[in-house]
Amino acid sequence: MQFGIIGAGVVGLNTALQLQEEYPNAQVSILADQYVENTTSYVAAGIFRPGNGFVGPTKEITKKWVTDAYNYWDNIRKSSDAPLAGVTQLSGYIFSTKSAAMTRNALLEDLLPVYRKATEEELDLCLGGWKYGSFFTTLLTECRLYLPYATQKFRASGGKFVEGKVESLTKTGGKYDVIINCSGLGARELCKDDHLVPVRGQVVKVKAPWIKMAFYGDYDTYIIPGFEGVTLGGVRQYDSWNTSVCKYDGMAIRERCFGMLPSLKKAEVLREVVGLRPHRSTVRVEPELLEDVSGRMVKVVHNYGHSGYGVTTAPGTSKYAVELVKQVLSASSKL
Ligand SMILES: Cc1cc2nc3c(=O)[nH]c(=O)nc-3n(C[C@H](O)[C@H](O)[C@H](O)COP(=O)(O)OP(=O)(O)OC[C@H]3O[C@@H](n4cnc5c(N)ncnc54)[C@H](O)[C@@H]3O)c2cc1C
Repeated sequence: MQFGIIGAGVVGLNTALQLQEEYPNAQVSILADQYVENTTSYVAAGIFRPGNGFVGPTKEITKKWVTDAYNYWDNIRKSSDAPLAGVTQLSGYIFSTKSAAMTRNALLEDLLPVYRKATEEELDLCLGGWKYGSFFTTLLTECRLYLPYATQKFRASGGKFVEGKVESLTKTGGKYDVIINCSGLGARELCKDDHLVPVRGQVVKVKAPWIKMAFYGDYDTYIIPGFEGVTLGGVRQYDSWNTSVCKYDGMAIRERCFGMLPSLKKAEVLREVVGLRPHRSTVRVEPELLEDVSGRMVKVVHNYGHSGYGVTTAPGTSKYAVELVKQVLSASSKL
């Protein structure tokens, strides 16, 4: 059996590992033109926090993706691999001066070990005059560590990499029993999918080992400590393809984060980075049969469009994608 996975971000690598587990004798190849530090996944803070806008085909499926993903990351966190894979536990607050609803999260409230209303005293834990707040304990996966860890695990199980851009699903797909499309924003061109839109993000990574808690405020403000440093964010710019650092965005991010925790003014800047979130109103995890030029059917399973929540949810959608691969193969064996 030969499987081809397009994409070496967190979604592609996670799908590859789960496919290798399900089909230990199959040859799994990852086809990608960008790796590790050149992927969107590498930019992410990696906090496990699907936004209320993370939507799958049904509420039940969305919930299952998020629950399966949480269990996947939490099993790594509990294992001796946790520091190698970059998975840890993290607590934090989400505050708002505008509305209580912004501090709630339907996908997380029943899932996380702790998700509760913040007390009056806790609303004063950082500056901002917060009126509403929640406290939660969640997970964090730092892709700076996870992508190399997953790469090494994939190789150790016989996985192969094919470097370069895939121009057409049908031309490339013909070489594989099933092709799994985890190309993130690349799917816009590859699948002519106009529903997929970049949502530009910019973050400042700083060295501030004294920050041990995550803090979210209004206007997409966040302070998220990780393994290497603390991620300060952010912006969400719909349909922007600009991959350059914008100094005005950087200034706004600093002002908002320093306004919450003034000690961050003393932090050394490690780097400032931009990433384009692959946003789709519904994450696309579904099979498709395509016909190539010779009339042969190419089996594809899509797994893309995770927007700002791909690190969080990759293991859940990947598990679902592997189930779809099994269904596609069993349907074709009955023909
Ligand atoms: C500033 C910022 C902060 C974020 N913070 C978080 C967070 O805290 N938590 C969270 O869960 N998510 C976060 N995200 C979102 C997360 O980064 C994305 O959802 C996730 O990285 C998407 O992963 P992916 O594997 O689909 O895409 P990518 O990481 O972009 O990987 C796509 C892969 O496909 C390959 N590819 C594409 N097209 C082709 C082609 N035609 N041929 C060959 N290869 C191709 C690319 O080379 C690449 O290897 C954040 C994003 C940004 C920008």
